[in-house]
Amino acid sequence: MLNQIKGLHHVTSLASSAAGNNAFFTDTLGLRRVKKTVNFDAPDVYHLYYGDETGTPGTVMTYFPFPMAARGRPGVGEVGTTAFAVPKGSLGAWAERLTARGVEGLETGSRFGDDVLAFRGPDGDGFALVETADDPRAAWTGGGISEEMAIRGFHSAAMRLKDDAATAELLGFMGYEKVGSDGDVTRFAVPGGNAANVIDLERIPGAPHAAQGAGSVHHIAFAVENRARQLEVREALLDTGYQVTPVIDRDYFWAIYFRTPGGVLFEVATNEPGFDRDEDTARLGEALKLPSQHEHLRQRLERALEPIGEAA
Ligand code: ZN
Repeated sequence: MLNQIKGLHHVTSLASSAAGNNAFFTDTLGLRRVKKTVNFDAPDVYHLYYGDETGTPGTVMTYFPFPMAARGRPGVGEVGTTAFAVPKGSLGAWAERLTARGVEGLETGSRFGDDVLAFRGPDGDGFALVETADDPRAAWTGGGISEEMAIRGFHSAAMRLKDDAATAELLGFMGYEKVGSDGDVTRFAVPGGNAANVIDLERIPGAPHAAQGAGSVHHIAFAVENRARQLEVREALLDTGYQVTPVIDRDYFWAIYFRTPGGVLFEVATNEPGFDRDEDTARLGEALKLPSQHEHLRQRLERALEPIGEAA
């Protein structure tokens, strides 16, 4: 069993409007835009990152916005809900805020004893806020949401699966322990993790497969401290028979990817070097940052990419 993985690093999804996506995450949810760059594998599309003040791994929601993208069709083989941690007693204020802004799909409930407010993102994305006591993470309040209410980072990601046995085994191998079940949902957590250390597996045997589109999660990334730990994880996954990509330089972290038995794409990303490697912390997310291999495209991209709002 591995012990290098500490929880989620980031969650990456697909969107339609870049401006609408930016407004929702910075203004409605009060996250900080910590990087405005492009998809390194398809530079005509933005890659937008939202998180806490510095984009601490475990807080970072990222998007590839394709302006004309059709919505995805929910189903099995995907992450259905991405959950953010908020302070105890804040869900009432959140329900008011989201209602006032016309956010859809608001539904209060309880999961594993925690109060939860589910809601939909601008493209139908499945989200939830989970009241969490004693979250050690600092809030980003620069987006205008008070510390008593502000998102602290991810709480968990919930995968919808036809059959969860093989994915449960993989999570166990990755260092997650089963911590409970609630109906058809089984919860796993990494002991001593980064507070974004919970994964839920939801069994839906009869459901159709998901079709990816706007509002779908593209992949989830797990955090390791550094490149040495990442290589240990890569070797172990290869030894177990997983097809893992080589290590890829994503400028703000190093990444490896592999497809899991339930169909969800996993990434393992390093905490180093971080989002402040090419911008001052005070100016994060303001300028369009391009990786060196795409810098020659700057003029064309600056004309072609949809304008989005200022960073908070
Ligand atoms: Zn990623």
